Amino acid sequence: MKYSLVNGFRAEPFKGGTGTCLCCGSDTIAKCGNFKVHHWAHKSKEYCDPWWENEGEWHRKWKNYFPVESQEIIFKNVITNEKHIADIYINQTVIEIQSYPIKEDEARLREAFYNNMIWIIDGCKNEFDEINFGLSIGSPHTEDPYLRQFKWYGRSKIFAKWSKSTKPVYIDFGSDIVWQLLQFDIKSKKGLVKAIPKETFINWFGGKST
Ligand SMILES: [Zn+2]
Repeated sequence: MKYSLVNGFRAEPFKGGTGTCLCCGSDTIAKCGNFKVHHWAHKSKEYCDPWWENEGEWHRKWKNYFPVESQEIIFKNVITNEKHIADIYINQTVIEIQSYPIKEDEARLREAFYNNMIWIIDGCKNEFDEINFGLSIGSPHTEDPYLRQFKWYGRSKIFAKWSKSTKPVYIDFGSDIVWQLLQFDIKSKKGLVKAIPKETFINWFGGKST
């Protein structure tokens, strides 16, 4: 996590720092090594948010496009007491930044829990997806130059999997464009995406790209 409570305030990790988890209230320690993104870790492996995952550079970069006060927001279901940490909550929308592949049933659970949410997917997790996507997209649609039809030749299931989402899905293949997945037919492997300049996309949702 990027934040823990230190003396009652949300604080970023610092060398030798200790704090309290914003979600479960247990002790945390700052991890400020040379290899991983600086983060807070639970002192003991207690039950916290089972949906939480370690953040790499890509994840943290996306998070930092948004204001500090909208990062790592705790959501609680008052009936079941279930708690989760949303990456971003801004303008009544949860933004889940997804670097690691997750199971489809967990993705559906998250969608149901947060309800008003969107996904940002790391399209560079599988080394050939970015190249295959570039080769797959056809020429611009005649009516709307931002719409692109494509036929997926890649072996990964990135489109098949995320086409089942009940919430908007945006894929970042590492360029200055974010691709919204609009349609994908699992049988024919044909799909439709919309190109959105990354800067525009971030601004839409209340963030800043620089
Ligand atoms: Zn915790």
